Amino acid sequence: MKQIYLDHNATTQVAPEVLEAMLPYFSEKFGNASSLHAFGRDAKVGLENARETCAEVLGAEPAEIVFCSGGTEADNLLLKGAAHALKSKRNRIVISSIEHPAIAQSAAQLASEGFDVQTVPVSSEGFVSPEKLSALVNDNTALVSIMFANNEIGTAQDIPTLVEIAHQQGALFHTDAVQAFGKIPVSIEKLGVDMLSLSAHKIYGPKGMGLAYVRSGVKIDSLVQGGSHEKSRRPGTENVPGAIGMAKAMELAAESVASEYVRLNDLSRLFLERIREQVADVTLNGPEFSEGAMPEKITRTPQTVNLSFAGAEGEALILSLDLEGVAVSSGSACSSGAVDPSAVLLAIGQTPELAKSSIRFSLGRHTTEEEIKHVAEILPPIIERLRRMSPAYANARR
Ligand code: PLP
Repeated sequence: MKQIYLDHNATTQVAPEVLEAMLPYFSEKFGNASSLHAFGRDAKVGLENARETCAEVLGAEPAEIVFCSGGTEADNLLLKGAAHALKSKRNRIVISSIEHPAIAQSAAQLASEGFDVQTVPVSSEGFVSPEKLSALVNDNTALVSIMFANNEIGTAQDIPTLVEIAHQQGALFHTDAVQAFGKIPVSIEKLGVDMLSLSAHKIYGPKGMGLAYVRSGVKIDSLVQGGSHEKSRRPGTENVPGAIGMAKAMELAAESVASEYVRLNDLSRLFLERIREQVADVTLNGPEFSEGAMPEKITRTPQTVNLSFAGAEGEALILSLDLEGVAVSSGSACSSGAVDPSAVLLAIGQTPELAKSSIRFSLGRHTTEEEIKHVAEILPPIIERLRRMSPAYANARR
């Protein structure tokens, strides 16, 4: 049976070019980048070249790039690091209601330390309104953190407008761009953010590798204590192969972002159209897909199709598709044997029942039209079968 992977927002396979670039740094160039001898110097050159590439792709300076272990660490480092550095001056932190747990839980930790954490709600499509953000940002606000693109529903925020609101009050702005980079253009200059998080494994790079962008002049406290690596912002011997892989992955993703946007957007639209033709009671979570070329104002990522199928339980759908060789996921979290509905879907106003009937298809670099058509063919009978087994759905339709 052919396997079809439609879970690229969870992770991606390492690109052959990325693997090739990394390999020498596991073997002959294995040195510690802090060592003074030739082995160390080789590793240091590789590390600093990687930093330059990452900075260039983002439109930043190399000194503004802090390598770390992934999106989760970058989010923790930037949110807590900036909050701690500003603690004696400003006490408020503002996040959105659809942040990844790496931000939401870091904010909860800051709240337990005495910070005044405020959460800005989102619209039914997942957008943060400038007015609602303005109402929460004041001259006591240290930091606003709002993700660029959402991992579950794909909504992309108008970051420059939101940045302006924070800056007007002298607050810093951080964005988690883990799910935006490689799918929509990400430029530090255009966004105007002070801090930004990225992860390599979402863009065909290695797992356990990420970076934190910190604008020159912005102070962040380190999360851990140790040596002076990464200008003491992230102590610990650097993951040189990881940095090399991340730089290569970023370069490749940036090169193809415009063409991939159109290709993936077309495939997502085709999928959605076929499903809507065949299945009743289906809801697209997040904004509608636009037609054709990449629009001036991007409102969503092109590869994320999150659908709710009333009466068909999400976990059953995932397992049924898995039996057919198709890998997808849901935003629900399994905690102590029970399935909790996705916090993102609840935040956009879904009922817990509908939220539990949702699955996310996330397309990627290797997704083909043939695969999309195949999934659109096998999915409707699965939904039909699950709905027949749901007395609540059958009763509601009577
Ligand atoms: N932020 C977002 C929006 C994500 O989707 C993810 C991963 O799912 C992360 C952060 C965490 O990244 P990592 O897996 O590299 O820790």
